[in-house]
Amino acid sequence: MGRSVIRIKDVKKIYQMGKEQIQAVNGINLNIRQGEVCCLLGKSGSGKSTLLNLIAGLEKPSSGEIIFNKKHIERMNEDQLADFRQKYVGFVFQSYNLLPTLTAMENVTLPLIFKNVPLRERNERAMEMLKAVGLEERANHKPQEMSGGQQQRVSIARAFINSPQVVFADEPTGNLDTRTTFEMMDLITGLAKKNNQTLVIVTHDLELSDYADRIVMLSDGQVEQIEEKTKIEGEKE
Ligand code: ADP
Ligand code: MG
Repeated sequence: MGRSVIRIKDVKKIYQMGKEQIQAVNGINLNIRQGEVCCLLGKSGSGKSTLLNLIAGLEKPSSGEIIFNKKHIERMNEDQLADFRQKYVGFVFQSYNLLPTLTAMENVTLPLIFKNVPLRERNERAMEMLKAVGLEERANHKPQEMSGGQQQRVSIARAFINSPQVVFADEPTGNLDTRTTFEMMDLITGLAKKNNQTLVIVTHDLELSDYADRIVMLSDGQVEQIEEKTKIEGEKE
């Protein structure tokens, strides 16, 4: 762990709502390092999701720079952004975002379909991921036949199947009970640490920050404080 994978320089996002301007992200500077679990913590409305969407290439900043592996993602067009997301990032959402008509296995294979991986390899890799999240026995179940925790496991398997460099999770345990929350955090941080993948987790739940190497506290679209929980040796910025 050490090298910066994402550099965020004076990033702002302003939404125009009628006559009113909302400064959702208001001048953020932050480097995110390869292999770290970085927790974006803050109250509702503090700009966490907006910041996550900006650095994941889902939205464009109003100003500032976002550099991912030396590439400026704020300069990419929609096609380049789609390509970037497919190659480098995985997503976990609060509401799981599984396709309801597909089985667990089919949902997990989706990112591989877009990469033209042959069927047999897709299924083998999806089964491996389902095993890794403890769901091999639910491979043929559809989302509505599974509990919330199981659905989130499927979505975690889908996020990791491509071995993305960075996984972004927006309130991944927001719909889960306390016990399932800790199981899910153990799972997602365990998977990321195993392959030195970076994990950026948005949460308003202080307890989840126990899992973080670094906690970035946001308030009114700005970084209020950064807490280092894991000392990093020989870190290069
Ligand atoms: P958080 O995830 O910390 O709850 P958000 O990033 O979702 O916060 O929102 C930050 C601020 O930006 C809030 O005031 C919110 O209402 C506003 N906001 C977020 N998305 C939009 C949007 N698409 N249009 C207008 N305002 C938005
Ligand atoms: Mg949010």
